[in-house]
Amino acid sequence: MRILVCPVCKSTEIELDAGGYTGKYHCKKCGYVGSYILEVDEGELKELIEAEKMDKSRDERNL
Ligand SMILES: [Zn+2]
Repeated sequence: MRILVCPVCKSTEIELDAGGYTGKYHCKKCGYVGSYILEVDEGELKELIEAEKMDKSRDERNL
């Protein structure tokens, strides 16, 4: 099963923009609109989320 993921905020709350008319995607979380979207399976999604968490904790340590 493929899951659509926002390339900006890694949210999975993606819907087709304008009901699919424009062929673009819309992220409900950060407002991203574009034709570029990440498409992953469940395992890859977990990796993405883990990588994102590691990025964040690294940033916090640097502050
Ligand atoms: Zn987003």
